[in-house]
Amino acid sequence: MGVMHIPGHEHQGPREVTLEEVRTVLGDCRLCELSQTRTNIVFGVGNPHARVMFVGEAPGRNEDLQGEPFVGRAGENLNSILSLAGLRREDIYIANVLKCRPPGNRDPRPDEVLACAPFLREQIRSIWPDIIVTLGNPATHFVLKTETGITRLRGRFHQMGHFVVMPTFHPAAALRNPKWQELLEADFRMLGDYLARHPVGAGAAAAGAGAADDAAGGAAAPAPEGPMVAVPAGTPMDHLPLAGE
Ligand code: URA
Repeated sequence: MGVMHIPGHEHQGPREVTLEEVRTVLGDCRLCELSQTRTNIVFGVGNPHARVMFVGEAPGRNEDLQGEPFVGRAGENLNSILSLAGLRREDIYIANVLKCRPPGNRDPRPDEVLACAPFLREQIRSIWPDIIVTLGNPATHFVLKTETGITRLRGRFHQMGHFVVMPTFHPAAALRNPKWQELLEADFRMLGDYLARHPVGAGAAAAGAGAADDAAGGAAAPAPEGPMVAVPAGTPMDHLPLAGE
């Protein structure tokens, strides 16, 4: 997957390109068929300097109508559990793998993910969060580049170069399954615990260091304490290491 060209930037590094510039390139996107049925493009919303970025699957009906991610029932659930991680909605940034709603909320198709992925990559590169929380299987499979199911991946952190990735259940799915809701909440508490033990500016939070390491094609950020799986370097997110390309 190629690197998206952002006008005015030769080889955009972490935090170099603004979200507005990425949005401008997205424009009135017609790269896939979803452009024919969408009401609004749902780019993403939140703190452009977020330490924690959430990645969902695709806009649903309410998001399509309002042009903002996670404003329906799934969003209400997300908002209600953010405090378990010590976070407020204004602290975080949220985007989806797909920027347009699949008709009837069907699963994203591979060609749609392929067409849309460069925009998410550039959003991640622009924000350069410490932690990426992937909500549900499609987001997790995209970021961790695995087919392993969320039930096996959740409950721990995965180190991906600069990023610490926390896969967890999708808040919409959790609404239909009380056990998943319990586990989703446990994951958010684990995230809160991690954030409390890693204040901004310490270790993995030192963006400059992480970026430099990645640009050099090298060392991951310091591994967080707690349950952690280090994903072998070079395997996953070859489409997402976002520096040194
Ligand atoms: N589900 C998602 O994955 N994203 C949204 O924005 C809304 C619901």
